[in-house]
Amino acid sequence: MVDKLETLEMAALSNNIPIIQKDGLEFIKDYILKNNVKTILEIGSAIGYSSIAFALIKDDIHVTTIERDNNRFEEAKKNIKSFKLEDKILIYNCDAFDYIDNNKYDLIFIDAAKAQYIKFFEKFKNNLSDNGVIITDNLKFHGLVEHPENTHNRNTKQLVGKIRKYIDYLKNNKEFNTIFFDIGDGISISKRKRV
Ligand code: SAH
Ligand code: MG
Repeated sequence: MVDKLETLEMAALSNNIPIIQKDGLEFIKDYILKNNVKTILEIGSAIGYSSIAFALIKDDIHVTTIERDNNRFEEAKKNIKSFKLEDKILIYNCDAFDYIDNNKYDLIFIDAAKAQYIKFFEKFKNNLSDNGVIITDNLKFHGLVEHPENTHNRNTKQLVGKIRKYIDYLKNNKEFNTIFFDIGDGISISKRKRV
């Protein structure tokens, strides 16, 4: 039974499950604590590593997380149970685009298919609470966003292009201000502009 975060991290890494990097995770945990974040919506649970880490920060933090892959969902569910966090983490097995939710969240964490980042942002910005933020992971994509010449794989090149488009979209966004952080695999924090 896995009930330690380090064990879960090692299990993910040895199975090639793309969990958030450690310093990126610490950065987001710090944001959650300092900004009194209570409710989190995560797009992309994988095996539950980041949602478990968020839920463990404080008693009054609740996470809703979505995973479309059946095997990962089952694995995440098992892990959430091992950590006895069933009351704090709600997990859904569906595609984020089919997911309907009218709740508001203090933090929306976009950590799913990189090609869809703009679409995720557009859909889930409606679920932000007044001071809520959208945090996005993997904006550096292992350094390839800055150095696309380092890959010759066509799919990877296409993905890099999509991430760049997302970064431009955030930079030029009329509704949101975004700050970019060179931490982990590249993280952004977007907050609605005040009128
Ligand atoms: N947040 C996790 C890692 C998530 S990896 C952690 O740090 O521990 C990204 C996950 O997003 C993958 O498991 C993938 O299956 C899932 N995913 C990708 N596109 C999705 C979509 N449209 N809806 C739901 N899940 C999606
Ligand atoms: Mg990630």
